[in-house]
Amino acid sequence: MNSEKQMNNPFIDHDFDKEHLWHPYTSMHNPLPAYGVVSAEGVELTLDNGMKLIDGTSSWWACVHGYSHPNIVSAMQQQTAQLSHVMFGGLTHRPAVELARILVDMTSERLTKVFLADSGSIAVEVAMKMALQYWQGRDKPNKQKILTVKSGYHGDTFAAMSVCDPEGGMHTMFGELVTEQLFAPAPTSRFAESFDAKELLPISNMFEDNHQQIAAVLIEPIMQGAGGMRFYHPEYLSALRKLCDKYDVLLILDEIATGFGRTGKLFGYEHANIEADILCLGKALTGGYISLAATMCSDEVAEGVSDSPAGVFMHGPTFMGNPLACTAAIASLELINQQKWQNQVAHIESQLRAELADAVNYTHVVDVRVLGAVGVLEMSSTLNTAELQQQFVDLGVWIRPFSNLIYIMPPYTISSEQLTQLTRAMKKVASQLTLPSHRSQFISHG
Ligand SMILES: *Cc1c(COP(=O)(O)O)cnc(C)c1O
Repeated sequence: MNSEKQMNNPFIDHDFDKEHLWHPYTSMHNPLPAYGVVSAEGVELTLDNGMKLIDGTSSWWACVHGYSHPNIVSAMQQQTAQLSHVMFGGLTHRPAVELARILVDMTSERLTKVFLADSGSIAVEVAMKMALQYWQGRDKPNKQKILTVKSGYHGDTFAAMSVCDPEGGMHTMFGELVTEQLFAPAPTSRFAESFDAKELLPISNMFEDNHQQIAAVLIEPIMQGAGGMRFYHPEYLSALRKLCDKYDVLLILDEIATGFGRTGKLFGYEHANIEADILCLGKALTGGYISLAATMCSDEVAEGVSDSPAGVFMHGPTFMGNPLACTAAIASLELINQQKWQNQVAHIESQLRAELADAVNYTHVVDVRVLGAVGVLEMSSTLNTAELQQQFVDLGVWIRPFSNLIYIMPPYTISSEQLTQLTRAMKKVASQLTLPSHRSQFISHG
């Protein structure tokens, strides 16, 4: 079969898929259904049965400019022909240099060094390694623990799992392979409400008691994503920055979901006017076209790492700095730098507020919340993802609930009519819900 034929052939072997392919967080016994996609353009996915779905997920926070954007596609096509990949050990190339320059310019002043990683989870691993090596280089090798908060989500690799929510996450499944970290209660004061300073007591005490062991605080700024879609108060974040300074602890911000405009600011930390020592980026970094992540750090962190006994930073994946991925990121960030996202996200936010507000009156809705281009209906108990997924597909939208949450984070380019179709579908499904009484033991991020 020639490649053109393959591209035009919409047939997807669903039986083979079911029998042989793992999908995220599924069982091979009775896998959740997987719908076949043949193409996507703008904010629409085309299924293999010809149906078109409006995308409410941005493919998990990533596809902020919509699908098949001509700038990103043509940049990637040219780069593929010129240099798809080359090892980064001992070699460099324009896409990596150009991307690093854009990232250093875009992020806060302190962040000057860029490590290019292959996925978000790896960016988190790299950040944690940097923090530990930093303290080795500053003659405090006992600083090895990470302090974080409950309800967080930072990825699925072992170190990343160790800082995910201890109940919703996977801590108990793998025994000692998952390092024990320090967990403070999740932030409680909500984003736009008054700040209750009392909530800082437990975490302040943890700093006080354990700072000699704490290498870094690691947290998702302002929005906790896959751990529960919670929006917390910026003062919590600025207080953390102060505690880190007071107790000589690094601050790692995981902006993998919040970065590049999603919460209404370019980065979540801008809501609190603070700077990180180490910053993790991913997901929307390439506009959702190909996997790439980055871990940025300050001069001070980079110097400490380089002063460590190893003398070098101990990480270097095969596909580090992949030119194709860097090119997608450059094209995506050029679009971000045109600043259209600001109006788009502001518009999405006000429309979500207006259209979702009355859902709070539905029997099973316990909370409605909106921040930036994120809209959440929290339900009174765990949802049946497969069943609801089918209802959403029948309504012509792609929305994927998890745990007890029906939520959307659409591409910034969505039109108001398309957004209304999403909010209508959310409300329709939420209002017609009949809920099972049990709660599942683990939150599935899928
Ligand atoms: C998705 C996510 C990760 C993990 O990124 P992957 O690319 O899926 O490995 C880490 N942190 C946060 C906040 C995320 O949302």
